[in-house]
Amino acid sequence: MSSEEKQNSLSPKQRSEDASLDLALRPKNFNEYVGQDKLKKNLKILIEAAKKRNEPIEHVLFHGPAGLGKTTLAHLVAREMNAQIKITSGPAISKVGDLVAIILRLEDGDILFIDEIHRLSKLIEEILYPALESRSIDFVSGKGPSAQSYHLPLKPFTLVAATTRTSLLSSPLRSRFSGGSFRLDFYTEEDIEKILERNAKILCVETKPEAIKMLASRSRFTPRIANRLLKRARDYAEVKGEGIITADLAGEALKLMDIDEMGLESLDRKILDTLITKFAGGPVGVGTLAAAVMEEAETIEEVYEPYLMQLGFLERTPRGRCATARAYEHLGLTPPATTQNQQKLI
Ligand code: ADP
Repeated sequence: MSSEEKQNSLSPKQRSEDASLDLALRPKNFNEYVGQDKLKKNLKILIEAAKKRNEPIEHVLFHGPAGLGKTTLAHLVAREMNAQIKITSGPAISKVGDLVAIILRLEDGDILFIDEIHRLSKLIEEILYPALESRSIDFVSGKGPSAQSYHLPLKPFTLVAATTRTSLLSSPLRSRFSGGSFRLDFYTEEDIEKILERNAKILCVETKPEAIKMLASRSRFTPRIANRLLKRARDYAEVKGEGIITADLAGEALKLMDIDEMGLESLDRKILDTLITKFAGGPVGVGTLAAAVMEEAETIEEVYEPYLMQLGFLERTPRGRCATARAYEHLGLTPPATTQNQQKLI
């Protein structure tokens, strides 16, 4: 990947000033949290019921592509419940002892947020089962003849977990989310426009309605991307214009970021182009495709593919990834007859 591609990529790694701006842009209550109406309704009932019973809310799982608002929801649940939130993630818990230490430190009513829960090892997952079900924890400390096993009671707490890959969660773990498993959908363009308008105000930047529309249409139906494009368009307008984000300046900023009219970045186009030109449109395994574009298979699956599938440019089949006729057309190529026929059948 060139350094320019790296800068423009959808990588979760962010510049530090972006991270602090993100905090400012994060919705502070359910009214500010745009869209996902059905999910919000369900969640509010769960919260109200728990409050009435004076109990912590039941364990919940949020799943869906990156940047759709899972972490934000975890914070909102904690805020609504007046609870403290302790944050960790699957990759950060590498040993049983890590999880035991976190869980034993939880206070009455705390929310434990585990992001990327699908990355927990099976061994660690098994420690969680009794903790979630019977509020106790069983573990062994030490090795060899001096090893001692413990069975300790826990204070009532709620696990709020997030994942981009529910299929990787074991069914015993999935069944422990007694409060429910909530899927976040891609947002509508209108919802993304609302988010952009609100955030432009927070960032104190003036925007023209056509600029908001343009940024929304290139945001992959994803709030995190919308925020990123808004921030970069603001930078561009400050440097190249009078600080007002007009449609022309937004268009130029997007061009500089190499984002096309469908919101595709250079790596999206590289994935499609490689699939079509090197693998005759597929089917090809994601590992092979990832090696050909020099990206990790996991990143392709979690970050790039959901949007390409949402646009109907790519299909996951049991035999591998396939480009659709639409993908050929987007790249200005003629789809082979079979792809056209397949497209008609879809
Ligand atoms: P995830 O955990 O699913 O990757 P986040 O919760 O970190 O996503 O969301 C990324 C950013 O997008 C948040 O900081 C927030 O500013 C914005 N965001 C997410 N969902 C919404 C929403 N429904 N309304 C407004 N902004 C949102």
